[in-house]
Amino acid sequence: MMFVLLFGPPGSGKGTQASALAGRLAVPHVATGDIFRKHLREGTDLGRLARSYMDKGQLVPDLVTCDLVASRLGEADAAGGVLFDGFPRSVPQLYWLIGHLAGKGRALSAVVNLRVPDELILGRMTGRRTCTNCGATYHVVSAPPAADGTCTRCGSAVTQRRDDQEEVVRDRLVAYADQTFPCLAQLRDRTPVHDVDGVGSISEVQGRIFGALAL
Ligand code: ADP
Ligand code: ADP
Ligand code: ZN
Repeated sequence: MMFVLLFGPPGSGKGTQASALAGRLAVPHVATGDIFRKHLREGTDLGRLARSYMDKGQLVPDLVTCDLVASRLGEADAAGGVLFDGFPRSVPQLYWLIGHLAGKGRALSAVVNLRVPDELILGRMTGRRTCTNCGATYHVVSAPPAADGTCTRCGSAVTQRRDDQEEVVRDRLVAYADQTFPCLAQLRDRTPVHDVDGVGSISEVQGRIFGALAL
């Protein structure tokens, strides 16, 4: 039973590292940002609500987000654990998750905290490009998509996320510092937190994460 949290500021490489890690842990990758973006593409009410916050670089309200996670955790494939990416993002979300898992006789297993210095974060976020279909992420410099600008994985168009423009990025970093970062201190008191250096090639960082978790 593995409930693992992938933590780190926006742009630290959580999404990039999550698929290999989820594969190795043999649990699904649950990224709340990806789920909100799927609702957005499908034009649901939740998608419209989420967009009004995402476009401003603010967190979607805790109640809405926790409801979404509760229903994802109720799906059959989540019974043996999940790798969370981008959740929890506030102290109330963290305590909601701890309570929700406790209600099922479960607990958090480990936290991986990706550390990337502030001066690299802005370049990673503004250079990020994302597949409009499968959500795969690229970077204009460090991990470019195919030469014709399409996704190497599925062939669809690769574009810049609306919230990766510099003005919004600055607000997202403030939301991280004010609301998400304080979760780490709370977590350190109750769960092993593995601080991993997120600077280096994608495979170097992956090696550090696997090493920290003894995988
Ligand atoms: P997060 O999910 O934490 O916001 P991403 O995984 O989307 O971060 O990565 C942000 C950007 O940085 C993407 O454009 C990605 O291609 C790039 N990136 C990820 N890991 C690295 C790395 N180790 N070195 C350089 N760029 C990276
Ligand atoms: P990144 O990969 O850069 O960290 P995400 O894709 O995880 O960004 O999140 C994009 C946006 O979706 C956030 O800025 C926020 O508006 C919303 N969001 C994602 N996860 C949460 C969450 N756990 N709580 C509230 N809002 C969230
Ligand atoms: Zn794709």
